[in-house]
Amino acid sequence: MHEVAIGAAPLTPYRKVFGDERMEALRDTAAEASGALHGRTVWNINSTAAGGGVAELLHALMPLARAVGIDCRWLVIDGDTEFFAIAKRLCTRLYGAPGDPEPLGPEQLQHYRAITELEGLALADRVRPGDLVIVHEAQPAGLVDIARRLGATAVWRRHIGRDEPNEHTEEGWAFLRRFVENADATVFLTQSACPDWAPRPHIIPPSIDPCAPKNMELTDEQTLDVLRCTGILDGSAEPLTIRPPVGEQILVRHRATVVRESAPPADAPMVVQVSRWDELKDMAGVLRAFLDADVEGAHLTLAGADVVGVADDPDAQRFWDECVAQWRALPVEQRRRVQLLCLPMTDLRENAVVVNALQRHATVVVQKSIAEGFGLTATEAMWKGRPLIASAVGGLREQIVHGESGLLVDDPHDLATTAQLIRQLLTDPALAHRLGEGARRRVNECYLPDRHLTDWAGLIRSAVTMEVV
Ligand code: UDP
Repeated sequence: MHEVAIGAAPLTPYRKVFGDERMEALRDTAAEASGALHGRTVWNINSTAAGGGVAELLHALMPLARAVGIDCRWLVIDGDTEFFAIAKRLCTRLYGAPGDPEPLGPEQLQHYRAITELEGLALADRVRPGDLVIVHEAQPAGLVDIARRLGATAVWRRHIGRDEPNEHTEEGWAFLRRFVENADATVFLTQSACPDWAPRPHIIPPSIDPCAPKNMELTDEQTLDVLRCTGILDGSAEPLTIRPPVGEQILVRHRATVVRESAPPADAPMVVQVSRWDELKDMAGVLRAFLDADVEGAHLTLAGADVVGVADDPDAQRFWDECVAQWRALPVEQRRRVQLLCLPMTDLRENAVVVNALQRHATVVVQKSIAEGFGLTATEAMWKGRPLIASAVGGLREQIVHGESGLLVDDPHDLATTAQLIRQLLTDPALAHRLGEGARRRVNECYLPDRHLTDWAGLIRSAVTMEVV
């Protein structure tokens, strides 16, 4: 287990986004929460410091929480290859998909427990009685019991899931429930993701950080330069420096790994999906729907984190390889209109700027997930005022008001409707513009960190009260 160093964010850039009134309300709420903590620490534990939604969320929220006076810290568990394979299988089944053909049986449980106990020893060196430990997701869920044994209040927070149970979710829960049901409280992203046995459930949607490299404003010129110098768009550009409102300047210089015939021109309409290379993100489905939409001159970019860069995701390489094979099998005319990208993860802030530029450059953003916990990539694109087409699953359905802040496809396997909506948005700029504006408003109202921290403060207060009871 290791700690991710987190500093306090400067508040001025956030004040610019939230405005004075929202900022003062946040300060008041945080002061109440930190008063209730009486010097105790809030520990967050997850399985990776980079890649995927949970890491993204913690990077966004924790520096701001520290800046408004909440003492929170971040721990990342370690494990061996077998442990992460079991954890990945578990997450995939909780999403409702089979994943690999291996079981989640007594042997896997034993290994999961053995690694968890080892991590528990490291936890004991840090956590003091009375602290609040928030355990994120399935990978570290075994630490709930250990945190309680150490005298802490343990909260388990879920970030993924599927609304309708099926045989795979049942199998996942049969493995995980024994750890989660001992938590003092639980947190879910949406009401529909919350099982009826969950102890003291809270519903807290996530947020994105408007001042982070992923979501900060970029000029049109910067956007194009970022995409050119990383080799994503046609044209040359020197490495460039981006100055985010918070943190050090970022040098953008690493080229993306690309599979394509040639680089798309900068002025071509672009459909984009940014996701992990994972079966549940259905990149292959986006590819087919885009080709079926058949809009002349339009290009598709499917982009994900470099498949060797995400420590807790051993399946990524396989899905990248599958998508590449599917692309290779296309006729050359179709291959010319599609590029597949692996975005370098050597510098995470540089990676974030590239994701930012891709989302900003997109004419249409797609998030065609088969299942989704919340879907931060959608929130990020919406904040940039992009018109979005998403499957009506999990948090995507909560985020998007169909026809106002994006378009939803009821059945995530429905390629025909996805294709038709891609076509509609590419050929109706007025509709695309209206949906993009609605999307930005929706995120401003519901998914920025001041709303999220206010919910967190409520959770802290209730956890502390619970302990007294
Ligand atoms: N992401 C990233 N770099 C990449 C690809 C994805 O930082 O190259 C981020 C993406 O911007 C988003 C997160 O990974 O913030 C994915 O979160 P989401 O909730 O969409 O899905 P998850 O991966 O958690 O299932």
